[in-house]
Amino acid sequence: MLPDAGSPWLLRLLRDIQLAQFYRPILEELNVTRPEHFDFVRPEDLDGIGMGRPAQRRLAEALKRHRSGLKSKNWVYKILGGFNPEHKETTPAADSPVRLPEAEAGLKCLIPEGAVCRGELLGSGCFGVVHRGVWTLPSGQSVSVAIKSLRVGPEGPVGTELGDFLREVSVMMNLEHPHVLRLHGLVLGQPLQMVMELAPLGSLHARLTAPAPTPLLPVALLCLFLRQLAAAMTYLGACGLVHRDLATRNLLLASPRTIKVADFGLVRPLRGPRGRYVMGGPRPIPYAWCAPESLRQGAFSSASDVWMFGVTLWEMFSGGEEPWAGVPPYLILQRLEKERARLPRPPLCSRALYALALRCWAPHPADRPSFSHLEGLLQEAWPSEGHCIRDVTEPGALRMEPGDPITIIEGRSSSHSPDSATWKGQNGRTFKVGSFPASAVALADVGGQPAPYPVHRGPPARGERRRGVTDGDREKAKLRDVPPARGQRKNVPLQRMKGISKSLESVLSLGPCPTGGGSSPPELRHARAVPQGLPVLPPRPLIPSGSSQPSQPPRERPPWPKRDPPHNHRTGGPGAGKAAVPPGGLLPDQEFQRKISEVELGVHGVTYQECQAALRATGGDVASAIQNLKVDQLFHMSSRSRADCRRILEHYQWDLSAASRYVLARS
Ligand code: AMP
Repeated sequence: MLPDAGSPWLLRLLRDIQLAQFYRPILEELNVTRPEHFDFVRPEDLDGIGMGRPAQRRLAEALKRHRSGLKSKNWVYKILGGFNPEHKETTPAADSPVRLPEAEAGLKCLIPEGAVCRGELLGSGCFGVVHRGVWTLPSGQSVSVAIKSLRVGPEGPVGTELGDFLREVSVMMNLEHPHVLRLHGLVLGQPLQMVMELAPLGSLHARLTAPAPTPLLPVALLCLFLRQLAAAMTYLGACGLVHRDLATRNLLLASPRTIKVADFGLVRPLRGPRGRYVMGGPRPIPYAWCAPESLRQGAFSSASDVWMFGVTLWEMFSGGEEPWAGVPPYLILQRLEKERARLPRPPLCSRALYALALRCWAPHPADRPSFSHLEGLLQEAWPSEGHCIRDVTEPGALRMEPGDPITIIEGRSSSHSPDSATWKGQNGRTFKVGSFPASAVALADVGGQPAPYPVHRGPPARGERRRGVTDGDREKAKLRDVPPARGQRKNVPLQRMKGISKSLESVLSLGPCPTGGGSSPPELRHARAVPQGLPVLPPRPLIPSGSSQPSQPPRERPPWPKRDPPHNHRTGGPGAGKAAVPPGGLLPDQEFQRKISEVELGVHGVTYQECQAALRATGGDVASAIQNLKVDQLFHMSSRSRADCRRILEHYQWDLSAASRYVLARS
């Protein structure tokens, strides 16, 4: 009989590869009790205990996996391994401060269900909801935490969501970095809960989009955040991981000047000599943040994370705007590749920083800088600081008073008359951005003298966009740090997540029948309904866009594609009222709405307006409207004529997935 004590990790590892019979010889003859002991075991030693070479190879592979800690088949064991939930929590002195001692803070453990108490809702993600909470340590000490609970459908957790949740746990367990959100432990309760470090100021995205009068974030602070992000990403890359969902919504503010990378649900290990991860099936990914190779082939790497870093930079400097808002997902790839379009330079972003973003968006992954290189590049692009040395009150100029700290975003001078040079910067007292005479500011690095030379000189970068953010009044805000976004810990994150989830498109998503999504959001249910192995195929727009898509539509415009459930359309958006009236009074209002819903359900990824238009075109015939929309979808994903697309769809009995596969396999 096999011993059940000694080196349980070894027994488990051997059992996993059907070599349990070697447990005792390895333990007793070779004296191996820890994984690193295998470093001293030679093939002949294993020959000596009767292990054949193929078995030795299996063992070597299993050891490699065990050491990398990334393949967590036995995730519960991994979490439980060596931990006894009741005894492993160290017990700090009852009077110790609430801040966790380092050893305890680093502890990844099982937490008894009764030790955590959930409070207000902080936000909602793809596979769970996040609450503020309190974790009571055995000592009685209370720690503020964030608790992410796995969303559970009527029949229990949905497979993919459970998998993602556990993956996030097993990834976070192994991470330790000042700018990576810390996992404290796991509650094996109903539902499963992750107990994480609380980021009390919420997501950076919520802060960036907080409505006025919340001031803009200081440009210098945004640069600091970028540096922290680059450092965290360098660390993740060194751990052999790709994040795949870098965006301001996943950067949490642990303090006014500290961000932490969070949301590791999409993290994957990098594999192979090229250090890539290639998606094996249809999963939702944040389309507008993705590198072309991710959109085209589902390929992710540190270089695709770097691309996302560029988009995150763009978000930061454009006040949390949605990248490529209003551009249909399929057009994003086309615009990136065929037109070589890039997101335009936001007004707060200096040319030097924008140049850095453009490097992150190099078409070929190999041409993008690494994260560690980016840390250096950020240093070079760091904006200069100065202070105001005289009142500036000229109309149209950024107002400032002597002593105001000024961050220089752009400096331009005329060599003939330096005094007439105009610079662009941010007043650190009012957080307003605008232009001002260079002579009004002394740069910090020239001994307090007015600096008559340019800062960040250079031609306007490609795609530069003008959007005036000028100083209006002399606001006496005394805030120098990041003020928390108003209401962000209440409704805002939820509302924002709703909007953002529209960016989570599946690269491989198609197919009309949402199934098995449990309580996951509709867009994920759609994505998961798709059979495995479809080629890269984003949802398509349905109305051919003869009119060119504006790259930056006004914010009020609903993002594309609209994926709110039908009832939202009826009562919600700006077009809803109009939509209720069919053209020429063809159908009664309610009936028309019902038909729109039917069409929406019949074709994946279509907007309310598109269904409406299709129904109008067919005089209210639902089946024809669905068919026409499908023809449109196929038409947009291939170079075939509409007539061809119709024939192919007819052949596949209007199964758009099958027709798409056919078309794409031949394109
Ligand atoms: P996630 O499921 O990780 O995408 O989280 C959803 C939302 O919950 C985020 O956008 C944040 O607003 C909020 N959130 C998640 N984790 C935390 C945390 N550790 N501290 C504070 N808020 C959080």
